[in-house]
Parts: sequence; C-alpha cells; structure tokens
Amino acid sequence: MTKTQTPRVLRAIPSVEKVLQTLGPVDLPRPCVAALVRQQLAALRASQEVPEFEVVMNQVRSKLDQARLSRIQPVINGTGILIHTNLGRSPLAAPVIEALCAGAANYNNLEYDLVRGERGGRAAYLEQNLALLCGAEQATVVNNCAAALVLILRHFARSDRNEVIISRGELVQIGGGFRIPEILEASGARLREVGATNKTSLADYEDALGPQTAMILKVHQSNFFMGGFVESPMTEEIAALASQKRIPFVEDLGSGAMVKTEKIPGVEHEPMPSEVLRRGVDLVCFSGDKLLGGPQAGIIAGKKSLVAALKREPFFRALRCDKLILTALQTTVDLYLKGSPEASIPALALLQLSSADLRARAEKLVAQLRNLPLNASLGQGKSEIGGGTLPRSLIPSVTIELAPTETDLPTFAARLRTGRPPVIGYISGGRFKLDIRTVFPQQEKELVDALITASNGGKA
Ligand SMILES: *Cc1c(COP(=O)(O)O)cnc(C)c1O
Repeated sequence: MTKTQTPRVLRAIPSVEKVLQTLGPVDLPRPCVAALVRQQLAALRASQEVPEFEVVMNQVRSKLDQARLSRIQPVINGTGILIHTNLGRSPLAAPVIEALCAGAANYNNLEYDLVRGERGGRAAYLEQNLALLCGAEQATVVNNCAAALVLILRHFARSDRNEVIISRGELVQIGGGFRIPEILEASGARLREVGATNKTSLADYEDALGPQTAMILKVHQSNFFMGGFVESPMTEEIAALASQKRIPFVEDLGSGAMVKTEKIPGVEHEPMPSEVLRRGVDLVCFSGDKLLGGPQAGIIAGKKSLVAALKREPFFRALRCDKLILTALQTTVDLYLKGSPEASIPALALLQLSSADLRARAEKLVAQLRNLPLNASLGQGKSEIGGGTLPRSLIPSVTIELAPTETDLPTFAARLRTGRPPVIGYISGGRFKLDIRTVFPQQEKELVDALITASNGGKA
C-alpha cells in the first residue's frame, strides 16, 4: 500500500445510502441494518481494499443473515439433550404459556392484596406452594440458582465469620464459567476446603469447624461423577454436626427433582429437595429450569427463620424475579401439586416417550425424505438429561440418520443450523443424526421442509 492509493480506495467505498437503497426492504429494524452496513464499510476502509460493488453487497447480506440468526428464536432440538443449556433449557408446559400470555398482556396483582385492597406481599401463593412441594417450612425465589447461592453466602458469611466449609470433591465447575470457588469469593466468603477430591470424612469437617466458620456447604456434583475409591459422610452426619455447633448447613442441589427419576428406565436417582431437607439440611437451593421444568429461577427452601432472614437482606431486592417468571413458576408448581407432573411437565414427559412411539414417528419422517439427494434411515440414539444433571443416565432413543449424497456432512449440518427454523443435530459415525425424543410432534412438518431444503442445496 502506498500513500497515493488511499484516496482512490476511499472514493471506491460505496455510501451507506447507496447500500441501503440497493438492499431494499429488510426484515430487521432500519437502525440495526444501517449500523451493520456502516460497520462493514468501516472494515473495508480499514483493510484498504475495496472489492466490486456486488461483492460488497454480498458481504453486507451475509452480515444481515448473521444478525438475523443471532436473534433469540425457536429452534428444532435434534440433539436428544433434554435440558440443553445452550438451547434454553426446559421448554414450558402449555398452561404455563397461556398464563404467561395473559400475564404479559394485562395488569396483575403482583404486589396487591385483592382481599384487603392494599399493597400486598409478592408471590405469597407461589412461595407457599413451593414450600409444600419441597416439604419445607418456607421457600422463596430469586433469578437463578447461582443468585440463590450468592444470596445465601452473602447472608451467612460476615467479616468476622466468613469461612465456608466445603469438600474438595465438590469444588465443581458447572457449564459456562460457574465455578463454586469463584462464586464464594465474589460473595465475600472464604473457602475452607476439606478432605481430598475422592475422600472426605466427618472428621475432616469437624476439624475445620471454628469461630470463623460461617456455614457448611454441600454441592451436588452435577455434571460429573466419581467412581472407585470414593467416600463422603452421610448428609445426616454432617447435619448433626452442624446442628450441634449451631452452624447453618446448606446444600446446592443444582437441578433437584420433584419426581423419583429412578423410575424412568435408564435414569438414576436425582436428589429431591424434600428428601435432602428431611435428612437435616437447613436450606437447599436449585434451578427452576432444569429438571423442575419451569422458567429460569433459583429456588431456596428450608428453615422458616433462615428463609425469612434471606428475604430481609437488602441484596434480595436485586435478585428478585419479575412478574412473568413468577407467573410461569406459579403455574408450573401448580401442575406438580395437581398430580401427574410426568404428563404435564414437558421436560418430564419427553423422558417418558417410549422407543416404540419414537420409532413410529421417525419412520413417518424418513418416509417423507424419499427421492432426495439424501440417504435417510432409522437409528438408535441415547438421549441425555443435560443441564448438568445425571451425567450417567442415558435413555435409549430413536434417531433419523442422514447422509446427503451431493454435499458433505458439515455443510449439510450448517445449512440446517442456519435455516428457518434452525435445526440442530449432531454428526456421528459418518451420519448427521437427529434424536426424535427432543423434537416436538408439532415441529415435524417444519423439520421435513428444512431437511428437503438443506438436501437441495440450502435454498427453499
Ligand atoms: C446448574 C447449577 C447451578 C447454577 O444454576 P443456574 O440456575 O443456572 O444459576 C448451581 N449449582 C449446581 C450444582 C448446578 O448444577
């Protein structure tokens, strides 16, 4: 590049106006389109190289496609992972969606006591029912389980008493950057690790107790498991020790389950809040959008005095949920209390689908994929729960297995991913696979259309 080239290059860059005009109507907000065009032109200016106008237009169109795809939108989940954190975790039940629509469109009694005609408590009905469901004296809700943990830590860890005792085997990282030690530090607590990664005894806890102890924390080892030479004291033993020393004992369950997950073939037992509280834990916290199958939320349940104290923390106000989340959670919890959550909660209902039903659906799908440059057949898959829950539980499932004959697998997968709606599957054993368990029947028509489009070159 020489100095004399620069002005010519700059002159060759089209104006924002010209690009916008050439684009014509675009289904994105005008300021967003204009900003993307300006960014793209600025990049050209910086690179000092200006291609043909049509090439510039294609670059801009590709940026717009990327922006369109980055909007939050429904996707078809063919991964077989039921609670997929990247795909929005649990889908919500139909009555929950109805309640959300009505709640969003209207005013409501979020903080208004309809009996007395004055200001009322927030989510009192929900809290009462959550407590019932958890077999707890009292319960409350914050934005997510991480927030629940931060609130609990900030409350119990004071400057003169800030040590949190936790077993080395439980210092876990959960998904995207959620590390227990970092959460502790951010909350002003000091970590007091006890035991070894694979072995922690009651004496290890006992030896660590002192005037500086704020609480004992147990963390459910969500997304990994340890086998072999493993030992940890029973919850009852730690509870007895904590109670004798008047130290709060808290368990972060992560997912938590309200049903006996071990009744589902291939699935192990996931701890239930009620059983853990019965064993003497003072407080539990868990997510609303993992196995509970509700909206993103963090539920705290346990001793009345402790939950009440947490709600009095000024910091609680910064973590409270909005009306939509509270409405969705209230309806989800009602579905549990009405009975048969296995049928009404989608995350649980998907777990119950039989291989025979899945096979029948997959056969119908495959039959619609004839006469395409695509080999389609049925296969066996293993669905997972996901969301850092029950890593060893694999549920036999049915897949459709696809081999495009005119393009390679990564291109085929990319076409599906960037189609409308996006379809997410996985490549394994030289095939692109879709696990039918996580595809909803009402998505099947769209799925077939997407597969036809992708096998025909990606253009509808
Ligand atoms: C998932 C998980 C969390 C975080 O829950 P969020 O609701 O996503 O904040 C915390 N602890 C454990 C053990 C988990 O599995």
